[in-house]
Amino acid sequence: MRGIAVGIDVGGTNLRGALISSDGKILKRRSVPSEANKGMEFVVKNLLRLIRDMVGNKEVAGIGIGIAGIIDQKKGVLTQAPNIANVRNYPIRKALIEQIGTGIPVFLENDANCAALGENWVGSGRESSSLVVLTLGTGVGGGIIVGGKLWRGEDGMAGEIGHITVDPDGPRCNCGNYGCLESFSSASALRRRIKEVLGGKDIEASVRQRFTRVSEHRIPEVLRELALKGDKLALSLWDEFGRALGIAIASLVNLLNVDMIVIGGGLSNAWELFIKSAIRESRKRALRAPIRRVRIEKSVLGSDAGIFGAGYLVFEGCNGQNSQ
Ligand SMILES: [Zn+2]
Repeated sequence: MRGIAVGIDVGGTNLRGALISSDGKILKRRSVPSEANKGMEFVVKNLLRLIRDMVGNKEVAGIGIGIAGIIDQKKGVLTQAPNIANVRNYPIRKALIEQIGTGIPVFLENDANCAALGENWVGSGRESSSLVVLTLGTGVGGGIIVGGKLWRGEDGMAGEIGHITVDPDGPRCNCGNYGCLESFSSASALRRRIKEVLGGKDIEASVRQRFTRVSEHRIPEVLRELALKGDKLALSLWDEFGRALGIAIASLVNLLNVDMIVIGGGLSNAWELFIKSAIRESRKRALRAPIRRVRIEKSVLGSDAGIFGAGYLVFEGCNGQNSQ
């Protein structure tokens, strides 16, 4: 398959897009605010603006879009999306095709699955045919590649690794379950832990002082900075974070015996603070052969993994490997 694909990552704050060549090079980038808090109509309006701006009068093979949420690929419907206001069964493909015409195919995929495709195509996992990609951000996303292909599952819901139980008595997760990986190894988990620590009775004044006037969204970054300076509390929170991740990794390698696990997402920038405890814990729990084999690496594509994966959807789809 030759040509140029449009790859777009729909985030809660921005829509980030690129024109991508079939050999995996970014030719042009654009970003616009998503206005996701205003609802799906605004997101679609901004998507169209981004697409028109990037494509101009060039010929493109198709448009691939990665979105955090649950997607019914056959119908082209966004069933649920946690970062976009009031989404329920929104017919996103139809809404886009009505505006851009039927000549350009539109492919949709969950954002973490896109990250897995991107890493497998041009990233850390490009030499591998079996890998799991974990994205650590506000939540925990996952994508599974087996035999060189994305495993979507019967309902397109495979790879929801963030909702593996790592502690049956753990805190309540957004999904309604208790003790999911996401409630330990995510930015929202770090925020919750800081609230718990500050709410404790015996807390030292110096600890409280460190976190007063820190806005909630900056807590993970502040914890990273403090841990790098050797702060004991911050180090222990990253250790907890890594331990839960290690429990999940043990289950993943026991279940899938993959060649690689790639860790990406915004919090992978704290790699050196959590990876030791993650590896220690996974070695303690996993069966010997699969944990010895697996290579655990940091994403080289970072936040571009999803854009590459969205572009890959187009090349894969135009080869007839993907149902549209
Ligand atoms: Zn959950």
